Amino acid sequence: MTSSFSEFKTLYSKIVNISEATSLLFWDQLTYMPEGGSSARAEQAATLQSITHELSTGSEMRDLLHKCEAEYSNEDENSDTRKVLRIARRDFDRGTRLPGSLVEEKSRHSTLAYNTWVKARERSDFDMFAPVLKKTLELTKQEIDLIGYKHHPYDALLEESEPGITHAQVKAVFSELKPALISLISRIKESGNSVDVSCLYGDYNTEKQKALTTFAVNEIGYNFANGRQDSTVHPFCISMSPQDVRITTRYDAGFISAAFYASMHEAGHALYEQGLPLQYTGTPLCRAASSGVHESQSRLWENIVGRSREYCTHIMPKFREYFPSFSNCDPEELYRAVNCVQPSFIRVEADEATYNLHVLLRFEIESALLEGNLDVDDIPDAWDSAMEEYFGITPPSDSEGCLQDVHWTGGFGGFPCYTLGNVISLQLWEKLRTEITEPKQLILNGEFAPILQWLRENVHTQGMRYQPLDLVETITGTKLSAKPLIDYLNNKYSEIYGI
Ligand code: ZN
Repeated sequence: MTSSFSEFKTLYSKIVNISEATSLLFWDQLTYMPEGGSSARAEQAATLQSITHELSTGSEMRDLLHKCEAEYSNEDENSDTRKVLRIARRDFDRGTRLPGSLVEEKSRHSTLAYNTWVKARERSDFDMFAPVLKKTLELTKQEIDLIGYKHHPYDALLEESEPGITHAQVKAVFSELKPALISLISRIKESGNSVDVSCLYGDYNTEKQKALTTFAVNEIGYNFANGRQDSTVHPFCISMSPQDVRITTRYDAGFISAAFYASMHEAGHALYEQGLPLQYTGTPLCRAASSGVHESQSRLWENIVGRSREYCTHIMPKFREYFPSFSNCDPEELYRAVNCVQPSFIRVEADEATYNLHVLLRFEIESALLEGNLDVDDIPDAWDSAMEEYFGITPPSDSEGCLQDVHWTGGFGGFPCYTLGNVISLQLWEKLRTEITEPKQLILNGEFAPILQWLRENVHTQGMRYQPLDLVETITGTKLSAKPLIDYLNNKYSEIYGI
């Protein structure tokens, strides 16, 4: 290691340490901070973020990168050092293209937008939110122009969360999914068959739910020596380092599957973070490949494992231990109940069959806004007509329509990762099934270690060594494709609904 690279690592570690400390403040804010702490906390977080921005884009970083790139120019371009330098260069270039004044304005505006959104959603008043959303769009367009793009303005946004993935590639995935999902949903509807979900509703003590979810996430491999689970309004996973990865869930005393599957989902994210390569701590390689790959891990554990017939059979004795009313419910009933398909207005409550159409709807609206083919004022109409076309239902109010997601208070471009995650999770699962003997039997037996081990080797410990599409291709030998997801959904629901 040259002395310049050693200095670079010291500087980069400092940035990582400050970012992780900022994450801890954020975790505290959403879990235990008293309400009165919010204004001081906003200042503390803003100060740390501006220090991170200065260190990441300052002259010391610029000079060290320059020196290191020259010193390692003859090394194999696939070496870890070259990869570290490439990611650091990408972050630096992106960071320096955005002036500090724009970053600050965006941050200030997003706080205002969030507060306005909360009120607008409560009153279901889109007109109240529209002016701030127009400003968000204007700031996003400024950001896109400064970052630059080749084909579509959306590319500039994807480059941040999904390096190497373009708007055209996301559009191609949705073009595969859209007709298949619309057809599946209408076949289910036409069948006239329904599933009984009554076992999920009842009087479910939240302390017992906590014990049950703690058991379930621990059993799949979430390590409580390096994590903890708390309760929040919106479930999330946050990492302070691979050795301190925390999750939260939301308990509903009347509906058991909300907390249970939120816990499985967040634990899936946490398993990825806990499995990142420790030997790369303090370098850009000790990071997840992308938001979409991250989501593939959460959806794999939540849905492919957690909503499988084998898992429902395996976990039933634990359900009965904590909630004796499940003695009247057999595993098959639980399996059908947690896989009920019901077109609904709210994305985060959507089932596996309808979920990706919710994401598509938002992606189409965002694309049209950035292309200049849709005005902010026309979003409610565009939203409602897409809901009618895809789901056959119209939201009774904007709070159950275009005002439901928090995402547009911070900007655009965040939604595709959800569908990319679902698509990638099935591509990985297809491959895993060829390399691990009888994964379904393992799930039935509650033996999750071989599955986790496969994900650790192939995904988690790779950190950011590959861009998302390269990672998928390296592991599976195939390009990004929605086919495994479509086949999985068709098989699952054909059987459940007899179609
Ligand atoms: Zn997630």
